Amino acid sequence: MSNQGGYVGAIAGSGFDITFYGVRGSTPCHGADVARYGGNTSCVTVDVPGHPPIMFDLGTGARYFGETMGTEVPFEGICLLSHLHWDHIQGLPFFTPVLRPGGRLHLHAPSQEDGSSVEEVVSRMLCPPLFPVRVDDLPGDLVFYEHGDEDFEIGDVQVMSRLIPHLGNTLGFRLSSGGATVAYLSDHQQPGIDVYEATDNARELCQGADLLIHDAQYTRPEFHQKSYWGHCTIEYAVWLALECDVRTLALYHHDPLHDDDQLDRLVAEANTRVGCGLTVIGAREGLTLHLGK
Ligand SMILES: [Zn+2]
Ligand SMILES: [Zn+2]
Repeated sequence: MSNQGGYVGAIAGSGFDITFYGVRGSTPCHGADVARYGGNTSCVTVDVPGHPPIMFDLGTGARYFGETMGTEVPFEGICLLSHLHWDHIQGLPFFTPVLRPGGRLHLHAPSQEDGSSVEEVVSRMLCPPLFPVRVDDLPGDLVFYEHGDEDFEIGDVQVMSRLIPHLGNTLGFRLSSGGATVAYLSDHQQPGIDVYEATDNARELCQGADLLIHDAQYTRPEFHQKSYWGHCTIEYAVWLALECDVRTLALYHHDPLHDDDQLDRLVAEANTRVGCGLTVIGAREGLTLHLGK
C-alpha cells in the first residue's frame, strides 16, 4: 500500500535534521558506563522544515521524543517502522502524542509473512494481560500502512522501502528531500562469518547516501558466537558504506554489552580503516546531524 500523501506545508530545498533518541539494540540498558551513548532502543527522527515529524522506529527512545512535542495543536506524525521486534516498538504505548485526543500517528511497517495485518500484531501486544491498555483505547489514532519493496512519497519526501535480511520481514528505508538522503538499516543480517556480500535491496537503499544509519551490533568475536541472530559486525557496516559510496556512516543498534569506552574504541578503529571519503561516527542519544544545505 502506498501512502496517499496529503501532509501539508512541506518546503523542499533545505535538507533536514536527523536526531537520535534511542541507539541501543535488543533491550534498553542503563548505568554510568552507557550514559554517553545512551541506553534507549531504536528511535531516530527526521525533521524536514515545514513537514510533520518523521520517525524511524518506536523503541524506548520514542518516549523522549514524544515529550518534546507541544500540546497546543493535535500531533500528526509519521513513523517508518523497520519491523515489529520489541526493541523497535516498545515505546509506542508511552508515546504521549497518541495518548492525547486528536493525536494521529501514521505507522508504516512491513507486511507480515503469516498474513496477519500489522494492526493485528500490534493489538496482540497491546492488550491485557501483557499491557493494561488496548490499541483501541488509546485517545489518539494509529493509522496503519503496510509495505514491501516500494517507492512512495510522504508529502514531498521521497521514500524507498526495501526488505532486507533479518529475522522476519524487515524493511530498510531511504529518505530523500531537498537534495539530501538518509538510509536506515537498523537490523541487518550479515550473510555469514567474514562474508561481505549484500542484497540488491540493501545496496539500493545505501547507494550514495549522505548518511547511512546501520546495524553495528557485534564485534567479529561476538559475531562468531551469534552469527545467525539477525545482525552484523561493525566491519560489515563499514564495508557496505564503502561499497555504496556513503559519506557518513552512523554505527547504530549498539549491543547492550558495549559500554561507552568500548564504543569509543570501536568507532575510532572503524575510522582507521576507511581512508578518505567516508566518516564513521557512533550514534548516540541527543546527537543531531544536518543533511543538505
Ligand atoms: Zn533491533
Ligand atoms: Zn530485530
